[in-house]
Amino acid sequence: MNAKVWLVGAGPGDPELLTLKAVKALQHADIVMIDDLVNPAVLEHCPNARVIPVGKRGGCRSTPQAFIHRLMLRYARQDKCVVRLKGGDPCIFGRGSEEADWLSARGIPVEIVNGITAGLSGPTACGIPLTRRGIARGVTLVTAHTQDDSTQDWAALAKGGTTLVVYMGVAKLTEVRDSLLAGGMRSNMPVALIENASLPQQRHCRSTLAAMQQAATDFQLKSPAILVIGEVAALPATLQLSQSA
Ligand code: SAH
Repeated sequence: MNAKVWLVGAGPGDPELLTLKAVKALQHADIVMIDDLVNPAVLEHCPNARVIPVGKRGGCRSTPQAFIHRLMLRYARQDKCVVRLKGGDPCIFGRGSEEADWLSARGIPVEIVNGITAGLSGPTACGIPLTRRGIARGVTLVTAHTQDDSTQDWAALAKGGTTLVVYMGVAKLTEVRDSLLAGGMRSNMPVALIENASLPQQRHCRSTLAAMQQAATDFQLKSPAILVIGEVAALPATLQLSQSA
């Protein structure tokens, strides 16, 4: 397993949502490079690995992506087994494929291990199914934050009829609301705001599209949080994730 980089999803926070494959990769790791949204509790699976925090809020403030690339390459070339551990899924707003491409182009074998993305776990953990027969015929995962300042086609999303799960939206609530309203979404479309999905400190509140910015202020919504916008956000919470023993 050496001289390889594993891009591993650590799931949304609850350490029990780690996959068996992720655990196996951690057990074999010499080096674990960890993002700040990863729950450090998952490190119990790699007690002998060297752990390097490379997250933006963690020990290394704003680690440049190029530095992370070079670090992975350096350790892989030293014949180390490197696990790059990311919150949620590595390929959902996680740069997993960019890192995989960069390493592959330099001859380093890469394997990607899925994780449960926050947008999937958060709604379930507060009783909201993302699809439901007759209510939501699909689901769209979108980011409210784009690096190149290009904007989402919110008008198309407003008309799509799918549940919208918005990542990185806490600072963009006004923009998301105004764009969806301008695109023709009804102002009382149900919305759920979910903070710290799957963690013991998870909180959520429900609102409507027009009122969601005010609701977030009243609720003191903080990142990390996702927004669920669609009819399913009004369903009664009969679907709770089982709480672990
Ligand atoms: N790869 C990650 C997403 C990284 S982008 C995944 O698949 O989940 C970071 C954004 O993810 C945050 O701004 C937030 O919108 C969302 N996020 C990550 N973890 C979260 C959590 N525990 N609860 C709510 N939102 C979360």
